Amino acid sequence: MIPDDDFIQTQGVPGPTKEEVRCLVMCKARISHDGTVVDVGCGSGGLTLESARRARKVISMDKNPEAIKLTRENLEKHGLSPKVQLMEGDALQVLEGVESFDTLLVGGSSGDLPLIIKQGYGKLSKNGSIVVTSILLETRVEAVNTLKEMGMTPDVVEVTIAKGKITERGTMMLGRNPITIISAVKK
Ligand code: SAH
Repeated sequence: MIPDDDFIQTQGVPGPTKEEVRCLVMCKARISHDGTVVDVGCGSGGLTLESARRARKVISMDKNPEAIKLTRENLEKHGLSPKVQLMEGDALQVLEGVESFDTLLVGGSSGDLPLIIKQGYGKLSKNGSIVVTSILLETRVEAVNTLKEMGMTPDVVEVTIAKGKITERGTMMLGRNPITIISAVKK
């Protein structure tokens, strides 16, 4: 995993997804080295970079031009640009032009999560995975319901990471926001 501090970060662009959470997302995504990953809402590129280290090809999209720019900078910094195609625009429109893929990661949806999952499912290869990372209560429920609607069995994991901060008096455990990872495999 790439340490959080090794990402260029800017105000106004969320991410990168914290290292320990990226770890879980990669575990659930089961990325194959000859597969294609689609990252919806690439933000700072946290999941895009991790995917690029594991997959043959990554297609990443974000509706925020600043996020595309930042992801590009992070890819260049880590020498991962050649594997990644960056597309600026709203997920539903961009996904229309994308051919089939093996893994769908969704980190941002702006209210369109059910439609993004349905559209993605149509282009997902057999045995391919969908992994939704959710911080909002509402998107957790939407993700579970939509994956079930598509005939899949969602796996739901919620984690609250506490990270140790070394101080003079000892190691202070600082809690981070809970995050839910909802994943499913297409049969
Ligand atoms: N996983 C990223 C952080 C994602 S933050 C990382 O590790 O760095 C969520 C991102 O989703 C934001 O940058 C936001 O602009 C984008 N987003 C939200 N809704 C979107 C949509 N409908 N289409 C494309 N991008 C979207």
